Amino acid sequence: MIVQGRDITGPVRESADVCIVGSGCGGGASAKILAEAGKKVIVLEEGGHYTSKDFDSTEQTAYKNLYQQRAGQATDDLSVTVLQGRCVGGSSTVNWTTSLRTPEFVLEAWKRDHGLVEYSSKELEPYFEKVERYLNIHKEPFENHNPNNRIILDGAKKLGYRSTVVGRNTDNCVKAGACGLGCPFDAKKTVAITYIPDAVRAGATVFANFRANNIEVRGRTKQVSGVVFDQQTQKPKTDFLIEAPVIIVSASAINSPVLLLKSNLANSSGQVGRNLTFHLTSAVLGLFDSIVYGAGGIPQSAMCDEFLNKNGDGGGFWLEAVPIYPTLAGLALPGFGAFHREMMHAYPHIGATIVLVKEIDSSGRVTANDEGRASISYSLRSRDLEYLQKGIEVAASVQFAAGAKKVMTLHTRPTEFQSPAEVRKKLASADWGMNEIALYSAHPLGTCRMGADPKKSVVDAHCQSHDVKGLFVIDGSVTPTSLGVNPQVTILAIAEKSAQWLAEHFSQL
Ligand SMILES: Cc1cc2nc3c(=O)[nH]c(=O)nc-3n(C[C@H](O)[C@H](O)[C@H](O)COP(=O)(O)OP(=O)(O)OC[C@H]3O[C@@H](n4cnc5c(N)ncnc54)[C@H](O)[C@@H]3O)c2cc1C
Ligand code: SF4
Repeated sequence: MIVQGRDITGPVRESADVCIVGSGCGGGASAKILAEAGKKVIVLEEGGHYTSKDFDSTEQTAYKNLYQQRAGQATDDLSVTVLQGRCVGGSSTVNWTTSLRTPEFVLEAWKRDHGLVEYSSKELEPYFEKVERYLNIHKEPFENHNPNNRIILDGAKKLGYRSTVVGRNTDNCVKAGACGLGCPFDAKKTVAITYIPDAVRAGATVFANFRANNIEVRGRTKQVSGVVFDQQTQKPKTDFLIEAPVIIVSASAINSPVLLLKSNLANSSGQVGRNLTFHLTSAVLGLFDSIVYGAGGIPQSAMCDEFLNKNGDGGGFWLEAVPIYPTLAGLALPGFGAFHREMMHAYPHIGATIVLVKEIDSSGRVTANDEGRASISYSLRSRDLEYLQKGIEVAASVQFAAGAKKVMTLHTRPTEFQSPAEVRKKLASADWGMNEIALYSAHPLGTCRMGADPKKSVVDAHCQSHDVKGLFVIDGSVTPTSLGVNPQVTILAIAEKSAQWLAEHFSQL
């Protein structure tokens, strides 16, 4: 059953075997496995419950209903926009379907530096396979790549860089291009139309418009309390209190640490909220004679991973395409006034390639502010900055190789190249300070990291708190390092593995 805030008339008091906070990749997958194992499961989701009937393919509706802070969430200094979902299904409802396994070199580092011997690719293989089968993850045939993705495939090939076609979790995709606005055709196999309905069929209850504010541990029993919202007005209506011996915090890498910090829990290591990674992202925009129309067709179906861990230092960058929705384009395009207007006139001819950095030395942190909300900080350090600069240089060359007449970066002071020969020189004199170039993250990770050592990590290899038995964190916050690929498959595989362990060991907790 899915209960919404509007159905609630008075304070809610319930008990369960397992209470899960958050209904995205981590929470949704855990709910299915535990409900199917016969546990009484309650899922609390602060966002609303929307279905394909509500998705009208406009940014106006999608940002309001489906995104954290109407897609305006950012670091405290406003230098990095942090995109996340806020609805049943979490970020999977608005993500762009790229589905990739955790790279081998990343799992090796988890084993070597964090004692996670259970996370070899061999150990994870059955979980990856299960996720891929369940979500119909497959590669698109060549004719399905839109012009924006072909820029990567064609440009990389001409320059001799490795590029690949990525997996996608879709079924009967009609190439409508609205993945980031909620798929109106139910073709994208989001958590909201897969794991959640299966969990509900197995007896789970999902409470939408319920925001958890506190967790209290009373011996074996734990209590989650918070506020019920009215979906329309977003005003608080009443409160709730759920009792359970097992709590799973799956509120994402931004909101899980906030909930734990507010509850003063699971932080003997001092690591809760630390180690935030972003896959820090910027873009280059190429102007083409032909129409690209980057908001149409499958948004992401190809990548260039030539420069990921190329130096063997665990860092680097990779390139992907991005859906250029008009409002997003308006905000991201460089310049002001007449220059900006000219750019917007050229909008159908613009192709966009994003550069995502797999961080190795930057430092990010989430804390709870005075209002109990996330306060996000991020310092971009020298090695990651070098990879960002190199990534922008490579992305610009790829755009030219694919036929762009002119290429621009997202620097506040407009930086554009008329030919490949200009790229390196102009980038050397560009501004690289925070707020001098538009930066994004759709992949915040790592703030409740997993590890064998309780002094250096928040949860163990089963995602259970080192400090509190029966308290689990299962979501993107547990990754011990930046991933170097889009995270949903990694998070789903971790959730499958941890929830299965939890179901098997429930009576011992
Ligand atoms: C625009 C966009 C595009 C992306 N594209 C891709 C892609 O192509 N491929 C890929 O692999 N990944 C992609 N991602 C990232 C991927 O979707 C996320 O990494 C993944 O969904 C994170 O899972 P999670 O369980 O950590 O958190 P989420 O899926 O974000 O779920 C957390 C949920 O918890 C809820 N919540 C938070 N706080 C509370 C609280 N206090 N009480 C109750 N509920 C709460 C939130 O509302 C949210 O619904 C994209 C993300 C975005 C935003
Ligand atoms: S591209 Fe496919 S999955 Fe994405 S919104 Fe369109 S139909 Fe849905």
